[in-house]
Amino acid sequence: MRNIRSKDTGPEIAVRRIVCAIGFRSRYRLHNTRLPGRPDLVFPKLRKIILIHGCFWHRHNKCALAHVPASRTEYWQPKLEQNRKRDRLILRRLRESGWKVLVVWECQVRRRHPTLATLIGRFLEGS
Ligand SMILES: [Zn+2]
Repeated sequence: MRNIRSKDTGPEIAVRRIVCAIGFRSRYRLHNTRLPGRPDLVFPKLRKIILIHGCFWHRHNKCALAHVPASRTEYWQPKLEQNRKRDRLILRRLRESGWKVLVVWECQVRRRHPTLATLIGRFLEGS
């Protein structure tokens, strides 16, 4: 499943840019392999994590980008359902060990969601 968490995807770079722009440059570590799910952006001192989720692989609810291919559904369905379960488990493990987690979806980044920077800023500045 490594292939679905490829490094340096477009949305991830965009989020990093936002994080830098709002003054949190160099406060984070990338792809911490010691944490469940190898989270994208980890802010150790803040004990916060930002996950950038591709809508398709991570099954964004009611999102157009998450739509299952019409062919080979018997192949896709179980695979994607497994991703969903895995994500839930990872999220629970992280939260149980005291991390605050923000999930940013690919579509929010792609649409240049106007409130995304605000959202990320509030998450990082908040307690
Ligand atoms: Zn989406």
